[in-house]
Amino acid sequence: MQSAAALQILKKTYGYECFRGQQAEIIDHVVGGGHAFVLMPTGSGKSLCYQIPALCRDGVGVIISPLIALMQDQVTALQLLGVRAAAINSSMSASHISETKTAIRNGAIDMVYVAPERLLMDDMLNVLSQSPIALFAIDAAHCVSQWGHDFRPHYVQLSLLAERFPNVPRVALTATADAPTRKDIIDRLHLRNGKTFLGGFDRPNIHYSIAIKDNPKQQLLRFIRENHPRDSGIVYCLSRKAVDETAEWLCDEGFPALPYHAGMTAEMRARNQEKFLREDAIIMVATIAFGMGIDKPDVRFVAHMTIPKNIEAYYQETGRAGRDGLPANAMMFYGMSDAALQRSFIDTGGAPENQKRIEHQKLGALLGLCEAAGCRRQVMLDYFGDASAPCNYCDTCQNPPERFDGTIAAQKAISCVWRTGQRFGVSYLIDILLGKSNARVESFGHDKISTFGIGGEHNKNDWQSVFRQLVAQNLLSTDISGHGGLCITPQGQAFLENREELWLRKPAAPARKTIRQAASKPAAVAPVGDPSLFEALKARRAELARAQNVPPYVIFHDKALVEMANRKPGSSEALLLISGVGETKLQRYGQHFLEVILQHNTGADM
Ligand code: ADP
Ligand code: ZN
Repeated sequence: MQSAAALQILKKTYGYECFRGQQAEIIDHVVGGGHAFVLMPTGSGKSLCYQIPALCRDGVGVIISPLIALMQDQVTALQLLGVRAAAINSSMSASHISETKTAIRNGAIDMVYVAPERLLMDDMLNVLSQSPIALFAIDAAHCVSQWGHDFRPHYVQLSLLAERFPNVPRVALTATADAPTRKDIIDRLHLRNGKTFLGGFDRPNIHYSIAIKDNPKQQLLRFIRENHPRDSGIVYCLSRKAVDETAEWLCDEGFPALPYHAGMTAEMRARNQEKFLREDAIIMVATIAFGMGIDKPDVRFVAHMTIPKNIEAYYQETGRAGRDGLPANAMMFYGMSDAALQRSFIDTGGAPENQKRIEHQKLGALLGLCEAAGCRRQVMLDYFGDASAPCNYCDTCQNPPERFDGTIAAQKAISCVWRTGQRFGVSYLIDILLGKSNARVESFGHDKISTFGIGGEHNKNDWQSVFRQLVAQNLLSTDISGHGGLCITPQGQAFLENREELWLRKPAAPARKTIRQAASKPAAVAPVGDPSLFEALKARRAELARAQNVPPYVIFHDKALVEMANRKPGSSEALLLISGVGETKLQRYGQHFLEVILQHNTGADM
């Protein structure tokens, strides 16, 4: 049964009409004192699952988050809703922290965000043991597990919460955790006698595209120009150098791009992150060091200039797009050399052997996704154990690749690898298959072997695709030295010996076509009926945000502005019906936005 108090808070404080998905069930369970493990995709509304119980229950809600850089924005967002929120982390002055602690003791704080290392200090634990606590929320809970993709040693010590505060509900939340990680989280945080809520992994508003690299900078430029000329987005590059070059080049092309990588000073990074969060339409060009926990809701695209580490990382990185539920694009450009590079990172990474083996397998699954002939979303969801139907909202659904019987081609390619001694890279092997001789080929005597010139029925591009797919299907793999030489895997041996049949996808359609498709797809959410009013509302929001030194989206999300532009509310009562307009925000900002709508209406009438 849904508690009336929780619904009341949802409406009055947050301005939302009804709970989504499993929110109501989770909130009831936690309000009733239960522990919970919540796995729900980004953007599905996990925050309310602990914020509302924290407001319903007596005492302070303690939220543990690894991201101190973002805490202040989270706290500001709550304060603008009229919630008494605070943060405690190492970036704050001792006097500020001690004030907050006093406020907690006096019951004057509804929610406090704490970094794990702070929470674990004796002093903080003492304050908490002297104060009523509504709940502990462990955000980014995958950080407790070594199986997860972002292990944090301090998180492991959070197991002491169960010992020190056995009667306080613990809610662990994450958007990414495979089965072993889930088990690990539940064990370490002692949630076995709590309830598990699995919300699936799908992000229906994200459109996925993966294109073969062929002049990636131009591909990126075209993608941005055609789909996101005035949007905020993230471009992931592999190296610091690539980040700097790409950011500079995008700026030259007229886009406000900023770099972000570990080679910059902490101040520079903080400044760029701040700009990205606070200004409209900034493109952040970054290494994967950027983005963890960024909850900017209106990131409209994430582009990968090279493949990520594995499917979890891809899901996590692309997941930063479209948290507000409006349509967003995930675009990846990939090439064979990316795979070789990732393999060599794993091999030289210093992890124990069995960890390396797991990482290689995970990379293989990602390559499978890149070469998938069927729905991308289905492959991805399947990887996380979610069965689903083709989505109709990804590049391969909208533009299905043709397939062909690739048995002979695969046999020729693998034999060629064998005949040349399993140490040459793709370009060399293709030269042999196409019968192209040169000094190097002759020096090895490879112009005399039986596979020389047996591949004339396909061109170079086709062969590249065949080799990529053989690697993706793990019949071939790049050698350990990381020089990009290919060798035959046991599966590849078996394939040759058993004369198995193999279907392959024809080389992907030119990237341009795939990208256009992404843009021409009808929006998943009602489009803006009056774009000029929407722009005017955004401009007013930007002014208010600057004046108050907060990110624009903590005032109102784009989604609320879209709804205002469509429904043009003319009174406070009507404005209150817009999703995302609660009572405090109405008081604070209502007049500003009503004014813009009124001006626009009278302007249009004249
Ligand atoms: P997550 O933490 O799961 O990524 P958030 O908690 O940030 O997601 O929520 C994503 C967005 O959805 C936020 O803007 C939030 O305010 C909004 N939201 C959450 N619950 C609801 C709801 N019941 N109705 C409307 N919007 C909601
Ligand atoms: Zn699909």
